Amino acid sequence: MTQLNGEQLLGKLIAYDTTSTTSNLELIDFVRNYLDDFSVHSKLVYNDDKSCANLFATIGPDDVAGVMLSGHTDVVPTSGQNWHSDPYQMKADDEAFYGRGACDMKGFLACVLAGVPQMASHKLATPLHLAFSYDEEIGCVGVKKLIDAMSGFEVKPKIGLIGEPTDMAMVLGHKGKAAFQVEVIGSSCHSAYINRGVNAVEYAAELIAFIHKMNAEVQQRQQLDNTYTVPYSTFHVGNIKGGTALNIVPKQCQFEFEIRNLPQDDLDSLVHEVKHFAQDVLLADMRQRFEGSQISFSSISNYPGLSTSRNSEVVAYTQSINPVNEFGDNASFGTEAGLFDQQLGINSVVCGPGSIDQAHKPDEFVSRKQMQFCNQMIEKLINRCTEDFSI
Ligand SMILES: [Zn+2]
Repeated sequence: MTQLNGEQLLGKLIAYDTTSTTSNLELIDFVRNYLDDFSVHSKLVYNDDKSCANLFATIGPDDVAGVMLSGHTDVVPTSGQNWHSDPYQMKADDEAFYGRGACDMKGFLACVLAGVPQMASHKLATPLHLAFSYDEEIGCVGVKKLIDAMSGFEVKPKIGLIGEPTDMAMVLGHKGKAAFQVEVIGSSCHSAYINRGVNAVEYAAELIAFIHKMNAEVQQRQQLDNTYTVPYSTFHVGNIKGGTALNIVPKQCQFEFEIRNLPQDDLDSLVHEVKHFAQDVLLADMRQRFEGSQISFSSISNYPGLSTSRNSEVVAYTQSINPVNEFGDNASFGTEAGLFDQQLGINSVVCGPGSIDQAHKPDEFVSRKQMQFCNQMIEKLINRCTEDFSI
């Protein structure tokens, strides 16, 4: 393969429609072949039906813990958005590159891949690890398979750079999230005889009211963290469906809710409070009237928050290679950094080209300037990995 520059690589990556939950295998094949051309071997970790894959590769010594460059390959849908050009055909002007995923986060992946020939030809003393995931946009779903596989690796990366769009500022914190679908099952009857049934919609409403009240409750008892735009853990119900007709006591009601926690708040115990009310208060009451009543929770997604210390090695290291030597505000959006950090002990910083303001929007773009900064960071990183035996 002829060597491709960052712009050409970005064009290629954007051209693969990798909307979350659709296959990312064509993009992964392209990356794999590209890496092969520089004699870089990669491992794939698939989802259950083998329609999507994570890719992991190490460049440099395989018996030393190195620096992980990580990003997701999936993008959000373009449906319903008014684009001025084909979102899967990169458009460039003097200022920027446009296309779905330009900043979130194929721009970062393109910069990393553009550095591969150099990474492969230098004798790296500290290895670089590439970790590309799928289905991040639907709640960091795909990377969990990669993390499971990595937990069995003899040598794991020591620190991680997660290239989500931060305008190349170093972001050290974000909230965690747990999202659930809840199904409430009661018992149906004619609405003229409501005492013979168990109204699933009304019990669901009680649970929703409890979830809503948790917002005020946590603000009372938690220390507010003003480094976040919303400085407390939040509870939110996003949709509801239940019942069939006004004159029937509804048997079934379904809704979805999420909790976004400050990293210092224990997500499991917040979830437990909701489940406790559902099971021990509401369900107990429902079952007194109908033994077959049920309230069940199915997890939609779940990832921890990130809280990297300013004094940590990964911050000093990133500062030494990043031309944009600034800290960004804690992110309102989640990333895979919290999972890498908590589950594998890979201390991580979120830092990548482009702005979250452009992510998920029509005419998404990453500026040429931001791509240059990221390329400079990768180049410095390669130099540092060549010289340095320590991280
Ligand atoms: Zn992203």
